[in-house]
Order: sequence, then C-alpha cells, then structure tokens
Amino acid sequence: MDQNQPISSYPCPVRVSSVARNSSGLADPPLDPVRFGGGWVNVGTGFQMRAFEATNHYFDKAAARLDLTGNMRTLMVTPDRELRVEVAIEMDSGQIGNFIGYRIQHDNARGPFKGGLRYHPDVDQDEARSLASLMTWKTAVVDIPFGGGKGGMNCDPSTLSKGELERLTRRFVGQIHDFIGPDKDIPAPDVGTDAQVMAWIMNEYAKFHGFHPACVTGKPVELHGSEGREAATGYGVALIAREMLGKLGRTVAGTTFAIQGYGNVGSFAALHLHQLGGVIVSVSDAFGGLHNPGGIDIGELDKHVAAARKVVGFPGADAITNEDLLTRPVDVLIPAALGGIFDATLAREVKASLIVEAANGPTWPEADDIFEARGIPVVPDILANAGGVVVSYFEWVQNLQHFRWPLEQIRREQERKMVESFKVVYDMALRKGVSLRTAAFMLAINRVGRARVLGGI
Ligand code: NAD
Repeated sequence: MDQNQPISSYPCPVRVSSVARNSSGLADPPLDPVRFGGGWVNVGTGFQMRAFEATNHYFDKAAARLDLTGNMRTLMVTPDRELRVEVAIEMDSGQIGNFIGYRIQHDNARGPFKGGLRYHPDVDQDEARSLASLMTWKTAVVDIPFGGGKGGMNCDPSTLSKGELERLTRRFVGQIHDFIGPDKDIPAPDVGTDAQVMAWIMNEYAKFHGFHPACVTGKPVELHGSEGREAATGYGVALIAREMLGKLGRTVAGTTFAIQGYGNVGSFAALHLHQLGGVIVSVSDAFGGLHNPGGIDIGELDKHVAAARKVVGFPGADAITNEDLLTRPVDVLIPAALGGIFDATLAREVKASLIVEAANGPTWPEADDIFEARGIPVVPDILANAGGVVVSYFEWVQNLQHFRWPLEQIRREQERKMVESFKVVYDMALRKGVSLRTAAFMLAINRVGRARVLGGI
C-alpha cells in the first residue's frame, strides 16, 4: 500500500461490522494486531475491538474528512514511547508485592506529554495507550501546549494500606523518573489516584532531579497545587453541559441528570450542576446507585459519601442498580466512571436526550453510531472532560512562575477556555455536517498535524 495515499482512499475493509465504515463509505484501515495487541475487548455484541483501536476508529473517521497522508496517519496514531516496568514493593505483611506499571507517551508535537496516572486492577498497556492518545487529541482540542501521555498501575488501591500505596508510588517514580519532568512528561491524577499520590511523586522526583513542582499536577493546594484543580474536571463537565443545553434551547435549571460514577469527576459535576439549578435524579458508584425523581440533595449526599465512602445507604433516595441508572428516562446522562460502558445493546436502551462524556472512552464506536442514528447528541470526552487538563496547565504555569493565582482567576480562565473550545467544535460540527466527536477529532488532528508539519519530525 502506498503510504502517501490520502487516508480516505484506502482500499476496502477487513473488518466485518458495519460500524467500521467511515463517512466516505469505506471501511477504516485495520490496525496491526501485533503492534497494537493486548488490552480489554468489547465482545458483548460480537463486535471485537480493543480500547486503543476504538480511539483510532474515531481518529480515522475524522481523518477521512481531512487530507491526511498514510505516513502522517501512522506518525500520529503510533505512540512515541511505551514504558512497562515491574514495581516490586514490600507489603505490610512482609511479603513481596509485584505490580506492573505503564507510562505511554503518545505524541509531543505540541509540547510535553501530559496525562493522568490510573491505579486500577483493569489497567493494561492497551488501555493506557488508548488513554494516552485521547490526551493528545484533548490537549489539542482545548489548545494548550501539551501532547498526550497516560500511565497506570494494575493494582487495587482499595486493598492497599497508605504505606503500601506510598511505597508503590515512590518505587514507580524510581523506575520512570528519567522519562518524566516539567519539560518532558507531566503526570496528574486519574481513577484511583489523588493529590496525595501526586505529592509523593513530586517528592520522589525531587530526590533524583531537585525541586521541580511542575513535574506533576493535581498536587495538594498547600504543596504547590492549584486552587480549583480538584474540582476542575467536574466543573468543566458542568460548563460544557450548560453550553450544549443552551444550543438545544434549554438551561441547566430544571433539567434532569443521571451521573454514573460518583468519584472526583462525577461528584464535582453533580455539585456544580446542582448549584446551577440542575436536578440530579440518579447517581451511582461501583457499589450501586440511588434515585430520587425530585432531585438528590447533593450537599447531604456528599456528607454521606465522606463518611460511608459510597453512595449506597444514603437515606434521601431509593436504591437502584447501575444498569437502571443507565437506562432510565432522564434528560442528560453523564458517564463518569470507567471506559467501555456503552455497547450496541445498551445504546439502544438509553432513554436520555443528551450524553455528556465525563469519563474517558465510555462509548464503543458501535454505540456511537447508534446514538447518532437515534439523534442523541454525544458531547465527546476529549471536549467534555478537558477541564482537568486545562487547570493542570494553569498549575504547571503557576509552578514555573513560582506564583499563585486566586480561585476566581482560575475559574474565569477555565470557563473562557471551555466555552471557546465548545464553540469551535460545535461550529465545526454544524459546518461540516458531522458529529461533535468527529468535529473534535478533526480540530485536534488539524492542530497536531500542523505542529508536526511546522516543527518537522
Ligand atoms: P475516581 O476514582 O475518583 O472515581 C471513579 C468512580 O467511578 C468511583 O465512584 C467508582 O466507585 C465509580 N465506578 C467504578 N466502576 C463503576 C461502575 N461499574 N459503575 C458505576 N460506577 C463505577 O476517578 P475520577 O478521577 O473521578 O475519574 C472518572 C473518569 O473520569 C475516568 O474515566 C477518568 O479517566 C476520567 N477523567 C478524570 C479526570 C480527573 O481529573 N480526575 C480528568 C479527565 C477524565
């Protein structure tokens, strides 16, 4: 195959599912299964796809609308570097614990690699790859000077003591410190990690390279973190939901919301939507869900969660299952837990009028096509949950300046960035007659591609 051929003129397909077809009617080029192998697979409806492949499906769908050569496509989808390290620590029991840590550096054409660190039993190389590439497109959509990276450790933090978690984190940094840093790759919190973990990363990094608080973001505010960072992703989700509802002739006030996942992102999205007058009718976490058709009192729920560490047992709502939450009638459905939630079966059962992706990669391509065919708009992850990396950027800038911005300035700048990015993506979707996801990818591919062309390789 001629690598310089425009991507949209690739010859026909190998994939069997109709959802593999891009908007030009051709199927997307298959990925090399050896190079991109591993990872979790969606087999629920007979359609087999891994996380990284799903992300690249969205890339290809957008790239088909652009004049992208085969070589450029390969350059843009292939990660720059993949680190896989064994992280062995002494457990409290005196036994040795063995864990595998990953750091995937996807693309740095626009600036240092940037992306979260996930501690979860499902973490694997393919998922980290997919999340790293989403970061490349996300940082480009909101136009901040970073590339994309992601890391993780396949551990279950809920079963680890604080001491074990700290030893694990420090050992991991010991293995990868030469590859991260303020000008190279800047980790941040994700599922299973928090400001405390980021503080350990900063401290451990300093042992090798000296004082560089900009080597990691999402740190505690009293230890070079930024005001507004903890709430930033959820706050951004609320802002984007507000903007999208505005385009649909609605306001947040009086609109009903269901939120799957009540961790950092889900809980702050709920809080800010609640403050804007939104009616949060359902929430859930890994242990189960809650429903109150009159709206859940989020202030009271947060007090309950602070004590119980889960939403279940809150007296101000009825218990429901996670499946119920996803398929009940509601105006806006916000997945804010893990990836790979919506498959074709679920996509047909969803009764929401709008989906705002707070989680990374919650929608399989087959489900995305069904939502599009059913006229249910999906605000994609690379736009909807970009608030976290936007404020991480502000934290990085403050650390480099050794200066602190007040919360009002952070909120104002974040809102400006999110609203502006939403407008560019929305206008492009209208102009090109594509979904918001395809428009967001088109914008991102243009920006990353332009940086590659200007900077060279
Ligand atoms: P978190 O660990 O704080 O919260 C995750 C929540 O999801 C928890 O409440 C957990 O119980 C729940 N959960 C797990 N499995 C579930 C299931 N099957 N059903 C329902 N709930 C389930 O993580 P987070 O930082 O809030 O991240 C959530 C999502 O947002 C992830 O996809 C992450 O990649 C994405 N994200 C996070 C940030 C950030 O700044 N933290 C930024 C961008 C995107």
